[in-house]
Amino acid sequence: MFRQRSGSSLCYACGKLNRADAAVCFYCGRRNPGLWGFGPAIGRLIGGLDFAGLVTVVSVVLYILSIALDPSAAFRARGTLEILAPSDRALNALGMAGAYPWLQGRWWTVLTAIYLHGSLLHILFNLLWVRQLVPDVEEVYGRARTVVIFTVSGVVCFLVSDLVGTPLTVGASGAIFGLLSAMVWYGRRRGGFFGSAVLRQYGAWAIVLFVLGLLSGTGVNNWGHAGGLLGGFLAAFVMGPIHERGEQGADRVVAGAALALTAVAFGLQLWTAFVSR
Ligand SMILES: [Zn+2]
Repeated sequence: MFRQRSGSSLCYACGKLNRADAAVCFYCGRRNPGLWGFGPAIGRLIGGLDFAGLVTVVSVVLYILSIALDPSAAFRARGTLEILAPSDRALNALGMAGAYPWLQGRWWTVLTAIYLHGSLLHILFNLLWVRQLVPDVEEVYGRARTVVIFTVSGVVCFLVSDLVGTPLTVGASGAIFGLLSAMVWYGRRRGGFFGSAVLRQYGAWAIVLFVLGLLSGTGVNNWGHAGGLLGGFLAAFVMGPIHERGEQGADRVVAGAALALTAVAFGLQLWTAFVSR
């Protein structure tokens, strides 16, 4: 079902048709062009992926879990920003990032923390932005590269936070800043009337959101936001928009790897928090 052993399949590197069991691509010479028979399944998975929907579902499920793990803390709100705020203990069990988990050697929290949120407002705000921006970025960079931009931005956001010493932090904000900077980079690179309109629109959003973060003072991870901007720019710069180079099997393999690594990260986190204690 997932593995194709007969017939023909596309080379993940050059996109040309080979026998499914070919050892090297007839056209470009790449080894295992059909990825041991898994190439077509990865293509279908990423090609039909509703990434904004996936991020929403995973974030909501983890948010409910984080409240259920420590309900008394979540219902002790003192202000709007604390309405249904899960405790640090609950978030830490699910993979919160920051200098503490980093020093404990839990490197995978730079991936898990992307999908965790610190309060009802935090998750609502972030998911609204994800649902607004993911389709825009998919339009310009394709589905596969959008997954990579999102994941890389989230990871760079938390790496920067961990290294500057932010004790504990969660949220998709860094990944959202990465989506914004990918759009800004596209607008700048494309130029012309359309490009400048894109640049102004997303540039304005990025600046407003960043300044809002700076003004709200404590509790907002501004270093993480800067890291997200940097990560999104780097990913967009390396991969480029689809009008310059169409989406290829290789993009889908990298996107599949980003999703698989995120799943492994949650596996490692849940194992260390709940099983191997
Ligand atoms: Zn090839």
